[in-house]
Formats: sequence, structure tokens, C-alpha cells
Amino acid sequence: MLHDVIVVGGSYAGMAAALQLARARRKVMVIDAGIRRNRFASHSYGFLGQDGVDPAELASGARRQLIAYPNLTWLEGLAAHAAKDGDDFTVTMEDGRDFRARRLVLALGVTDILPDVPGLQERWGRSVFHCPYCHGYELEGGPIAVLAVGPVSMHQAILVPDWGPTTLLLNSTFEPDKEQQGQLEARGVAVEPMPVACVSGEADAELTDGRVLHFAGIFTAPGMRPSSDLAAVLGCAFDNGPIGPFLHTGPMKETSVPGVFACGDVARPAGSVSWAVGDGALAGAAAHQSLIARHLRTPA
Ligand code: FAD
Ligand code: MG
Repeated sequence: MLHDVIVVGGSYAGMAAALQLARARRKVMVIDAGIRRNRFASHSYGFLGQDGVDPAELASGARRQLIAYPNLTWLEGLAAHAAKDGDDFTVTMEDGRDFRARRLVLALGVTDILPDVPGLQERWGRSVFHCPYCHGYELEGGPIAVLAVGPVSMHQAILVPDWGPTTLLLNSTFEPDKEQQGQLEARGVAVEPMPVACVSGEADAELTDGRVLHFAGIFTAPGMRPSSDLAAVLGCAFDNGPIGPFLHTGPMKETSVPGVFACGDVARPAGSVSWAVGDGALAGAAAHQSLIARHLRTPA
């Protein structure tokens, strides 16, 4: 069966796109492997009207509303391949099943690659975070560490002091130059050059010289990569962000491949639930309107 639109990725961005399409009475399929980026966190903050909710409940509530639309099909599983197929697209599932659509929306999300420090991964989303807007307030004034991954960590180091007294743990990843030293000083950031052996307790940094620094929380900047290679397989162009590549999209969230739209974390240098939902709603409406434009096109 030919769908109007297949949305790959059924989290916040993909569901926001699918909602617009379902409400436009189009035949839409959502394919979702169910591996949300924020699955490590028990609370999601900063999304208007849903501040502090369980992110799993936020997703399952949205999904409940979506699957009530009879013109929407929800498919659990991993889309393993996608290809242009004449004017349409074919998406092939891991189990070999094929589905066709006139348009694709890629809402694949990203996977975080944490610095290789023992104890960090277990605390990800609990006392180790990447976004102070999401999780800074709950640290109740600190003290807070920024675990550096390189010069890119200057951004977090000068931002985070608004949430509490901040220590930049250089961890041998870079050496602040004169200008950077001045910025850190101006923001009152303490700089710790001794490498971090591990993270223990709530958010304690055990240094290689045996000292233990106690923090309420740690921010770091994990590397990001798209959660699947579907966009690359389709030939979509990427832009380079500070911590990883993200899909290039135009003002209506269309990728460099006509008919393929993208939204959420996979299509931004940095993401949040609010932005994923905003992008998704835009991509869904844009995919819908491009179906109408195609219908009106005069054949050559
Ligand atoms: P995701 O939520 O990552 O979803 C992508 C979906 O696509 C997944 O279900 C995945 O399985 C699926 N998928 C990918 N490839 C395929 C494929 N080939 N086939 C089928 N399915 C596929 N943001 C906030 O606003 N507030 C917070 O408090 C907050 N806390 C966070 C805490 C942590 C620890 C982390 C890591 C992130 C947090 N974020 C928070 C950021 C937030 O999680 C993301 O911005 C948001 O999840 C992006 O939504 P998305 O729909 O783009 O991607
Ligand atoms: Mg249905």
C-alpha cells in the first residue's frame, strides 16, 4: 500500500509531524524503534505545560492520541533501509518488509557518545547532563562541574555559573588560552587541570592525584551522531555542528533530497523537546503541502 507519508522515528519530533498529517486526513505511517534519547532521565523539564513530567509518559500520552486516528498506522521496529523509488520512496524494515510513501519525514534523533570516564554513563540523566536549561534548576545552586571534552566546552563553562558556582574539569582535553582564561575568570569559573579518574557517589569527581571534588551535578558535551544511517543512505546532506553532524534542512524542514523532510535533534546542532515538537509540526505541515504542490504540477 502506498502511504502519503512515512515518518521514521516516533518520538516527540516524529509524533508532532505525524499529528499534523493525521489531522490533514492523509494516510500516514509512523515507524519507531522506541529508543528515545532522554530514556535515561526520570523527569523532563522546560516543555511548556509539561514541566517536570516523566518523559516516557509524555511520549506514551502523545502516542495514545495519535493512534486513535484511523488513517494513521503505527509500526514498531527498525527501518533498516530507505531508497528513492521513482517519484516515491521505499522503506525496508529490519525484518525485510517494504513500505512505500510519497514523502518521508526523518525524525531519527541522535545518540550521545559520552566522554570515556568511568562512572559517567551510569549517572547520565540522573546527575550528569548536557543541558543546563533542562536540568540546571534542580541542582539548587550547585556546586556544579563542567567536564571538558575540548575547547567546545568553553560554551558550557561560561553558561553554567548562572546555575551555581562552577568548576571546569579540563581532564587533559584542552588548555584555555589567554582570552579563554579571561572569560572563565570574568564568570568566576574555577579551573581544575588534574585529570578525572572516575565519577562516584552522586556526582563526585575523583582526580588522578587522589583528591575528590563534590558536586551537585556535572555537565558535559557528548558527541552526537544520528541514531540511524537512514538519512545518509538516502543521500541527504549534513551540516557540521560543534559536537557532531546534523541534517541540513531548509526553512520548511526539507532536506537536500526533495520529498524528504527532517525534524528534531537529528536536524539541529542541539535539541530539546520543545524544539523537536516545533520542528516536527513544521515538517508535518510542510510535507503535507508538498503533496498538494506535487498534485498541481503540470507534467512536462
Ligand atoms: P528522540 O526522542 O531521540 O527519538 C528518536 C526516535 O527515532 C527514537 O524512538 C528512535 O528509536 C527512533 N528511530 C531512530 N532511527 C530509527 C529507524 N531507523 N527506524 C525506526 N525508528 C528509529 N530535553 C528537554 O526539553 N528537557 C529535558 O529535560 C531533557 N532532558 C534530557 C535528558 C537526557 C539525559 C538527554 C540525553 C536528553 C534530554 N533532553 C531534554 C533532550 C531530548 O531528549 C531531545 O531533544 C528529544 O528527545 C528529541 O526528540 P526527537 O524526537 O528528535 O528524538
Ligand atoms: Mg490507527
